[in-house]
Amino acid sequence: MNHDVTDEQINNVTVKIKDLGHAVNISRGAKRTVICAIGDKTQLNPKMFDTLPGVKTSKYIDKKYKIVSRESHHQDSVIDVRGVPIGGKQIQIIGGPCSVETPEQINLAAQQVASAGCRLMRGGAFKPRTSPYTFQGKGEDGLKIFRQAADKVNLPIVTELMDIRMLDTFLKYDVDIIQIGTRNMQNFDLLKEVGRIDKPVILKRGISATISEWLMAAEYIAAGGNHKIILCERGIRTFETAYRNVLDVTCIPVLKRETHLPVIIDPSHAGGKAWMVPALARAAIAAGADGLLVETHPNPCEAWCDADQALNPQEFKDLMASLKGIAAVIERSL
Ligand code: PEP
Ligand code: MN
Repeated sequence: MNHDVTDEQINNVTVKIKDLGHAVNISRGAKRTVICAIGDKTQLNPKMFDTLPGVKTSKYIDKKYKIVSRESHHQDSVIDVRGVPIGGKQIQIIGGPCSVETPEQINLAAQQVASAGCRLMRGGAFKPRTSPYTFQGKGEDGLKIFRQAADKVNLPIVTELMDIRMLDTFLKYDVDIIQIGTRNMQNFDLLKEVGRIDKPVILKRGISATISEWLMAAEYIAAGGNHKIILCERGIRTFETAYRNVLDVTCIPVLKRETHLPVIIDPSHAGGKAWMVPALARAAIAAGADGLLVETHPNPCEAWCDADQALNPQEFKDLMASLKGIAAVIERSL
């Protein structure tokens, strides 16, 4: 639309798109407003809109992903999580254990994560484990003790949803960010459900998912109306076996070009060893990531899950300090 577009002109275009049987997505930036018609493109022609008052130009968006594409929304999306911005100048480090274990463990973890300077905390209550014989997570009880521990230090919480049937329980505990894990990146029914609610979602990259498949998964969430999506790269599977996964740092600039959504990195599940985490974390921030999801545990040797990759509280503090330096160099803050 023209830069001086009026509400009435936007409304006229919107009504016309809806009358033609399409959904509408309006992106209002400081510099320009983009109105997207979403649906079967054979039913629409740019010429139908070019002559309407306020319209600057109309065209097909070539990308398969529409709402999440940079083409439809030029500015970076900043997602507000209880006052904490994800995707802006300030980098967010989301620290916490792989899994919620006991009230003592999660309380201690919450204090340590808060005192290290994090504004958000992670912790899994429902764990997608490779073996059915290993610890599967504390379930609802885990959510409850996580919520209580994080509330004491006033940190919003991030936790993984594996099953649609647990969505109401997640809402009951007011989970601040719902994590969709690697194994569920293409669980389309789950994506549709979290697309219907008004909660930020961290969408982790599937272990062998291409950027395009990943963005299409994000589009599933966005198509339902929920645009509060944060992409999280956590390492992909390649021929290399010397470490858990290969951190795809290249995806950061590529995603920044393709989408307006915030991009965060999980160096813990990428490397799989605590000693690799600082190097990967620093590389990610230097390459332009908007934040990190990092596993840290009050006592890694005793962690019930992913013990090898958890940073101890001192290592985590040291990492935060070194990331501050990198953030300053690239004119961001931590
Ligand atoms: C996690 O973050 O705890 C997790 C299980 O990650 P991923 O889905 O990346 O394996
Ligand atoms: Mn883990």
